[in-house]
Order: sequence, then C-alpha cells, then structure tokens
Amino acid sequence: VQVRILGSAAGGGVPQWNCACRICRGCRDGSLPVRPRSQASAAVSADGRHWFLLHASPDVREQIERCPALHPVSGRRSPIAGVLLGNGDLDACLGLLSLRESQPLTVYTSAAIASGFVEGNRFARTLARFDGQLRWRTLELGAPTVLTVDGEPSGLTVTAFAVPGKQPLHLVGTQPPSDGDTLALCIEEPARGRTLVWAPSVRGPSSTLSELLQRCDCALFDGTFWRDDELGRIAAGAPLARAMGHWPLGGPDGSLQLLAAMPARRILVHVNNTNPVLVEDSAEHALMRALGVELAHDGLEVQI
Ligand SMILES: [Zn+2]
Repeated sequence: VQVRILGSAAGGGVPQWNCACRICRGCRDGSLPVRPRSQASAAVSADGRHWFLLHASPDVREQIERCPALHPVSGRRSPIAGVLLGNGDLDACLGLLSLRESQPLTVYTSAAIASGFVEGNRFARTLARFDGQLRWRTLELGAPTVLTVDGEPSGLTVTAFAVPGKQPLHLVGTQPPSDGDTLALCIEEPARGRTLVWAPSVRGPSSTLSELLQRCDCALFDGTFWRDDELGRIAAGAPLARAMGHWPLGGPDGSLQLLAAMPARRILVHVNNTNPVLVEDSAEHALMRALGVELAHDGLEVQI
C-alpha cells in the first residue's frame, strides 16, 4: 500500500485562523519548531496510478495540488477514484463539496455517515447533478469491500470497524447515534498481505481496536490531544478531549501506552494545534519518540 499524508492536523489546522495559543503563535512567527499542517487526510493506492482519499478535508484542493501523484495526466480525469469516510465531521467530509466538477466518484462509508451528509443537505445536490456523479457504497461493519476503479478491482479492500467515538456536533438530535458513526478503516492489499489502519478519531480503548492494531502493519492514529483538559486551558468552558470523541495521548491511561505496546509502525495524525507533541523540542515529543511512535507531517510518504 502506498500512502501519502495530505494533511496531519485536526480541524482548524496548524496554525488555526482564530487562535493565538503558544503553539499557533510559535508556528506563525517561527519561534517554535512547529510545522504548519493542513487538516487530516491521506491518499492510498496499490498501483500508484489510482488513488483513494481517506477523508475529504476542507483543505482538499490545496492538498491535491501539493501531491503530484494526484494530478490529472490528461483531459479532465483525476487519478482519484474514490473517497473513504470514517466519520461525518466537517473536517472529514466538507471537501466532498470541492470535488464537484463533474467527475464520477465513489464514496465508501457507513449508512449512518452517508445519511448524515445527504439528508437535509441542499449543498449535497451539487454532487448529484447527473446519474452516477457520486456513488455511495455502504460499508457493512466487519465485512471487506473491494475498492474499484471503473468497476475493476483496484488491488485494495476496505473493512470498517466501529470504534468508540461520537456523532458530529451538527447531527446531534437529528438522527439517533449509531455504531456506524465513528469507524476505524482497515485498508488491505491482499496480494501483498499488507494492512493499514486509519483511525483519526477514537474516544477510548476497545477490544476491536486493540486487535486491529495488533495485526496491522501500520496505523495512522488519533493524535488530537495530549491532555483531557487541553482545550479548556486556552478557551474557558471548552469541553474535555474525551467529550469531543478523542482519547488523549498522555498520562497512565493515555493512548500512547497502547500504541507503545504494538508491533506495527504507529503514526499520529489529526493533531490539534494545542497539542505540545507538535513542538519538536518538547518533552512530550521526546516521550512519543522514545515509545517508538511517529508524528505525521503533510507530505509524508509511507510504503507498507
Ligand atoms: Zn492554537
């Protein structure tokens, strides 16, 4: 599996437009070793010619331009064959509306995430201007689905697993919460027996998650927050990390402890601009490295 990290930050990016926290300021003025980052997304391919996006972030247009593998080679035909959605947050799916220039695309996701995007959304009609512009393929939890290019197998399959998470804010009260709201996406290349896990939103531990992380070759994992009360320290009254659907990395019950114990390559994505792990000379960054965990940056290429 070839992987391109298109964006590695949580919603808002690094720096975030309305934020003057220490890290956003240090990133803007260069006083801290913090790289700018766009909102989380990656592209995966078996053959290097046809690609699938893991999430379509609000930064998708710029992310495509920065990644030569995703540039069209002739006419109006992008090498992007489809989009996989692991949750319905705006950071994960708003970019779909920017991919509307009459190219057929297949979107693979759960029924809950698909209805959360389509139901009552007038903007979604811009992706249904002709038959087959956007094809929704429903992922059944735990069952592999072949990713296709023009109806032919692409060499990759995807399996969705429910993980602890939460509904997107804009859907609360509009449809019942479901197991399909927050997914870990397991992308496999059966011909080579290789497996990638994409799990940028995970609220806490689960046996399904541990099992997935034990058997994969590489995990792109939720690195949103270091501490549970991180956001409240800069914005009074802000919710805790877990209430926002993210398992903090630090502390004795933090996700780094689980990641440290797994054999695969582990790379943090969806990192919020408040997270001290972004500061490359911080104690938190050093601890992450000491536990064998990596921090994704925009443009990182991974071969699995
Ligand atoms: Zn900030």
